[in-house]
Amino acid sequence: MKFLHRIENQTLLAILLAVGLALIFPSLFLQLAVLGQVFLRLLKMVVAPLIFTSVFMSLMHLRDLRVLERLGIRTLAYYLGTTALSVATGLILVNLLRPSAEIKLVETPEIRNLSLKDLFLGLFPENVFRSFVHTEVIPLIFFALVLSIAALKVGRRAEPLREFFAALNETLLTLTRGLIRLTPLGVFFLVGALVAREGLAPILSLAGYAGTVILGLALHGGLTLPLLLFLFTRTHPWSYFLSVREAPLLAFSTASSSATLPVTLEVAEEKARIRPEVAGFILPLGSTINMDGTALYEAVAAMFIAYSYGLELGLFQQVLIFLTAVLASVGAAGIPSAGLVTMTLVLQSVGLPLEGLGLILAVDRFLDMLRTSVNVWGDLVGAKIIDSWLKKEDEDSRCG
Ligand code: ASP
Repeated sequence: MKFLHRIENQTLLAILLAVGLALIFPSLFLQLAVLGQVFLRLLKMVVAPLIFTSVFMSLMHLRDLRVLERLGIRTLAYYLGTTALSVATGLILVNLLRPSAEIKLVETPEIRNLSLKDLFLGLFPENVFRSFVHTEVIPLIFFALVLSIAALKVGRRAEPLREFFAALNETLLTLTRGLIRLTPLGVFFLVGALVAREGLAPILSLAGYAGTVILGLALHGGLTLPLLLFLFTRTHPWSYFLSVREAPLLAFSTASSSATLPVTLEVAEEKARIRPEVAGFILPLGSTINMDGTALYEAVAAMFIAYSYGLELGLFQQVLIFLTAVLASVGAAGIPSAGLVTMTLVLQSVGLPLEGLGLILAVDRFLDMLRTSVNVWGDLVGAKIIDSWLKKEDEDSRCG
């Protein structure tokens, strides 16, 4: 039973058990749903402070701001490149498979229109404490970045600040390690409640659409990303996946990149041996702006809605979908259903009716779980690749 000593394996088993048992005892799982909520709250409890301290410390470790430039440019290039590859995979698949549904709107979802201006303004904190309270990830990262840059400029006098946040960061990570022990239990109740509430029927009725998204996610997560990882780092993708699998598994259960972030950081530093200064910068940022899975899903869903309304979209419109799907995934927060909200941007760009979202609601939570796993896996692959690029450069400059 050594297999069961590992938390990752216990988590996997918990998911399988939860699906099976919730189909047999749905009302029991509905009553116990609150336990899953407690687990989620415990995770969320550490997210905002941890984002702040890890980004702040990441820059403090760098000491030299020129490294930030190198890190920043590479990180953005990786994020945009892989997200674009992911959307392209989705678009090719959806054009080949052409899934569509008979129009039968389940309910009109509550839609808040998102404008580009809102997205842009949302990058900056209106009030730092508000950003902490609402876990507004990008504004928090922004504040941590500018504060650490200022602290680097202050130099020796800012040393106590650095000491303080280093201690807080370590303490939060230790706390996270404790929470990780609860993962199998938390996941058991979360997944159980979901299956008890929704059953498996919606998945079957939207099989064509769900299948296209799932196939796209599998190709991107199982082929493209591993290939990139191997090409750039010569790391064996499967053993890398096994070493960090706790994070994508938790992402699957929580459907939230942000809630998973503490665990993503922990496995990256402890299991994958990615340097904290790199992981601490790339992963918090990635958890909210690098969402390969979400981008792919947005493109496929928009095309599916068009097909279901009997509309044909030409090349120009598909290019628009491509661009807005990338943007919408960047704008989506790392929380459940965030992608559904930013999808309004994609639909509007090609004039599709927003009510079309009603078509995909039934399977959205399930697809959310899958796309969030791919989002987190993409962040972890990126962290490894960028860490190895920087390491190589450091070695070269030392030799040179
Ligand atoms: N739930 C996703 C995440 O947290 C975002 C989304 O696609 O809804 O990464």
